[in-house]
Amino acid sequence: MIVPRIEIDLQAIEDNARTLVTRLRARGIEVTGVTKATLGSPEVAKAMVRGGVARIADSRIENLEALREAGVRVPLTLLRAPAPEWADRAVACASTSLVSDPGVVAALSAAAGRRALNHRIVLMVELGDLREGVMVAEALDLARSISRTHHVTLAGIGTNLACRSGVIPGDEQMAALSALATTVTGKLGVAAPLVSGGNSANLAWALGNGRVGRVNDLRLGEAILLGIDPLTRMPIEGLRQDAFALVGAVIESLDKPSQSWGLRGQMAFGAVPSSRERGTIIQTIVALGRQDVDPDGVTPSAGTTVLASSSDHLVLETPTRMVAGEEVRLGLNYSALLRAMTSPFVYERLVQRSGAVAAPRAQMA
Ligand SMILES: *Cc1c(COP(=O)(O)O)cnc(C)c1O
Repeated sequence: MIVPRIEIDLQAIEDNARTLVTRLRARGIEVTGVTKATLGSPEVAKAMVRGGVARIADSRIENLEALREAGVRVPLTLLRAPAPEWADRAVACASTSLVSDPGVVAALSAAAGRRALNHRIVLMVELGDLREGVMVAEALDLARSISRTHHVTLAGIGTNLACRSGVIPGDEQMAALSALATTVTGKLGVAAPLVSGGNSANLAWALGNGRVGRVNDLRLGEAILLGIDPLTRMPIEGLRQDAFALVGAVIESLDKPSQSWGLRGQMAFGAVPSSRERGTIIQTIVALGRQDVDPDGVTPSAGTTVLASSSDHLVLETPTRMVAGEEVRLGLNYSALLRAMTSPFVYERLVQRSGAVAAPRAQMA
């Protein structure tokens, strides 16, 4: 079978989605499934939908267009506000956008008007992580202005924590968001606002013992795809961590010294890592590189370690000499998954529990 390829177990994704949807439903929270780490894969989105997510969201307009094209029928949300010149394509493919800037609201309004549409806006609020979001003190004014803008509807409010600064979503932030939701309901007459509390980093809070308040939605990517809590990078109990594997082929496997020799400057990607003299080791090269995967985010099988990587070579230490063409399977973290799904050199193999193989992204021979 062709290499390198990423194997995607759609059943694992469906199972993870269903588990999270069930647990969060008990807390009054719906799940928006986030596909951006899979380049907006329609098959992944459909697995999430089978698992019960209410909506699908992605940060890229091209990905949402592909999902629409592929017949994903649930409402689509644009996670990253569109630049004004993208507003037309945004309103054409998404029903809802997360927005924090009045200029983007104006562009969406104009674009929706031209298409005789109404576009839903979730106003993003800054609660300390310092990525997107209007400051709380200014949120009501901007919410009011959105509610008075033609061709857009103020659908609710949201926030995003952890992604930029690692700020942990907790009772304090979620209470602030709930309080703002109450104000927006009371002052602007938004009856049942979407209150989108955050991403996978919110799960520990959402499934804990605290009060969820008015939070009624979480946008989940990493937790569904990898079964991992992004705050700790630990497995979430009851979820599967085996939905993705990257498979590459051995192109050299030789006994070599553990230390390089000769005068040394910088290597291809910056500073030279120091290596300990350990005598002769078995060094195995896999035909995968930084163009295809983040080498710091791969997990080889027990006994094998990643020694180094350059654009196109992944250098491993393996317990035994391997045969050229032999396959090496690697587990992936979020960063490695994102890179692998984005590399045009990595083929895709979709696997169901039944063993069925579905259509490829890149053509698979
Ligand atoms: C990426 C993203 C998410 C999903 O993040 P995960 O950590 O993968 O759950 C949610 N909301 C926004 C705004 C995002 O950009």
